[in-house]
Amino acid sequence: MIERSVDLSTTLMYVKGVGPQRAAMLQGKGLETVADLLAYAPFRYEDRSNLKPLGQLTPGEMATVIVEVSSVRMKGLPRMGLLEVEFRDSTSGKLRGKWFHGSYLQNVLVPGLRVALFGKVESDSYSRDLLMMHPEYEVLSEDDEDGDSSLHTGRVVPIYEAAGKITAKQFRSLMRRVLDALGPLDDPLPENIRSRLKLPSLWESIKTIHFPSQTEDLRLLNLFRSPAQVRMIFEEFFWLECGLALKRAKAQQIKGLRFELNDKVREKIKAMLPFKPTGAQKKVLLEIAADLSSGRPMNRLLQGDVGSGKTLVAAEAAVIAIENGYQVAVLAPTEILAQQHYFYFKHLFQRIGYPVVSLTGSMSEREKSQVRKIVGAGLVKVIIGTHAILEQDVQFQRLGLAIVDEQHRFGVMQRLRLMEKGLQPHVLTMTATPIPRTLAMTIYGDLDVSVIDEMPPGRIPITTKHVNNDRVDQVYSFLRQEIELGHQAYVVYPLVDESETQAVKAATKMYQHLSEVVFPDFKVGLMHGKLPPSQKEAAMADFKAGLVNILVSTTVVEVGVDVPNASVMVIEQAERFGLAQLHQLRGRVGRGSAQSYCILVTEKLSETGRERIRTMVDSSDGFYIAEMDLRLRGPGEFFGTKQSGLPALKFGNILRDPELLEEARLEALSFIQHPPSEEALRTGIKYLQENWQRRYGLVQVG
Ligand code: ADP
Ligand code: MG
Repeated sequence: MIERSVDLSTTLMYVKGVGPQRAAMLQGKGLETVADLLAYAPFRYEDRSNLKPLGQLTPGEMATVIVEVSSVRMKGLPRMGLLEVEFRDSTSGKLRGKWFHGSYLQNVLVPGLRVALFGKVESDSYSRDLLMMHPEYEVLSEDDEDGDSSLHTGRVVPIYEAAGKITAKQFRSLMRRVLDALGPLDDPLPENIRSRLKLPSLWESIKTIHFPSQTEDLRLLNLFRSPAQVRMIFEEFFWLECGLALKRAKAQQIKGLRFELNDKVREKIKAMLPFKPTGAQKKVLLEIAADLSSGRPMNRLLQGDVGSGKTLVAAEAAVIAIENGYQVAVLAPTEILAQQHYFYFKHLFQRIGYPVVSLTGSMSEREKSQVRKIVGAGLVKVIIGTHAILEQDVQFQRLGLAIVDEQHRFGVMQRLRLMEKGLQPHVLTMTATPIPRTLAMTIYGDLDVSVIDEMPPGRIPITTKHVNNDRVDQVYSFLRQEIELGHQAYVVYPLVDESETQAVKAATKMYQHLSEVVFPDFKVGLMHGKLPPSQKEAAMADFKAGLVNILVSTTVVEVGVDVPNASVMVIEQAERFGLAQLHQLRGRVGRGSAQSYCILVTEKLSETGRERIRTMVDSSDGFYIAEMDLRLRGPGEFFGTKQSGLPALKFGNILRDPELLEEARLEALSFIQHPPSEEALRTGIKYLQENWQRRYGLVQVG
């Protein structure tokens, strides 16, 4: 085969040793070009140069060993599929490896095979032999395509996540080949920054990350803090922050509507308010009012814990827009929440004579077209609905403010859609799942953030308890007491495997059990997503009116539902819920003046499940909970990648590297504001545009 010249943009399929099949597997990991491959960083390093013989291992340590398979057998009940493998090394030491459900390995780990194992050394309580449970393994003696065993042993070896059938070992061979074929790479990082921060060059860093020399500090490598890794992490954050800074600068040039907050508007707000706003609400309203009068479109994220009174502030902002002659759209993620907002706003606005309409997907065509007509004619100032408002071909007469109530996603898509309609309204996004403040600031460069950090007065903290499923009877007698005191309760069921149908089944069954067997003398209601809209409305209205004592529900009551008389939230199979969801659900109670309770009933708890429950019992601080959530789930899942509009990072991890993120942010700001030269800035922006578009998708810069 003719060796083609290889550069960063070469498609991996044309790299020697990668055919269509492997190319497809690599693509499955998002690896298409040589540049992608080089950015596929090892997640761990093993020192395979100074290996301990088996005889020197001590229980409790994490170790890498190179051993040979001596025997393999399945043990125990077939159901468990326990695979037991005996290994030996040249010093005739012995080690046992055990894999539950390991039958698939029977034909892999055959006697005589040489493998590297990595895992925690234990002492088999039974035989006293040394043991590793589910060690990671790498087959060494198999004929390698390039036969270069020195890549895989006798050195500090990088471990990559497998891609399809491509193993860590094959990644090493591939990296070696690609690096050998590539010449030194140009370094895009501005020279002045690189030398001031003493960062190694791109080429040195890439080589070190994939093939650390014997002198590299293994401990630093595994902490992602070797100079080479630090450089790559810093660089990634640097470009990200440059992109955000440019985006923000661009956003500041867009002209927006100017709304005044004068005495007349203040009077109107005062007339609407049912109670005195808290200090935090006042502070946030001023921030919003400043945006609205700035002449630039507002793009503000309003964070505040569940029940902190975000909606009230949004209503005040709406009054400002309306008094300035514009319309307001309120967008909610679910129909139930849209309906809640509809009632809430209608209630507030009827005091000051603003008509309010709602538009949801479940309305008849005739109703919808009527709504469209009066909105288009400007006869109504406030339209409330699901995000479907944006799809339903609604033409506003003069849309001035969009209030987006989202669970944890940000109005990126909505905003784009509004802009497609040729509108440049102010956008206020309310989020009930706060993002840790530090992250919000650094990541959403073009988003301003306001925080309501104070609860309305008179709230009594919610008591949270964890109860095992086998003591659920005690929960029921507690429910009985509370209801006899005149309070109401929710009993919530999780979505099982993301299937609403399953959850509906579970909730319906429990509804029957509770209404017929446990509480025949109380009124029990049922609520779930599969009910026709009219029944959902009726169920909510009955609960709100106090006609129903216990509402059995799926997670449809998660966001926004506001029934102050409800004092108990029972969450069944609480281990199945994420932290954000648990916190949201808990926020449905504690909205009135009575002591409220959240009872988490669990069946089987995993390690992280236990951690989540503990977090809930320990804290009711949404910011702390969000932080824990981020920690337990990792940033990828926390933000969900696609919808959040967040870039997928390759080297950096916002959770692990906050200090590098902050450093990169400051460097990026100063680079954009005071570039070392016009030339350097131009080159930087060009680099960003060429690489940003592909990696960060949606985001436009420059
Ligand atoms: P969030 O949307 O932030 O979860 P809401 O806006 O739904 O919170 O407010 C929760 C409850 O607190 C509502 O019943 C609301 O009417 C009430 N509330 C909001 N602000 C105040 C305040 N300043 N004083 C008293 N009650 C308030
Ligand atoms: Mg709310």
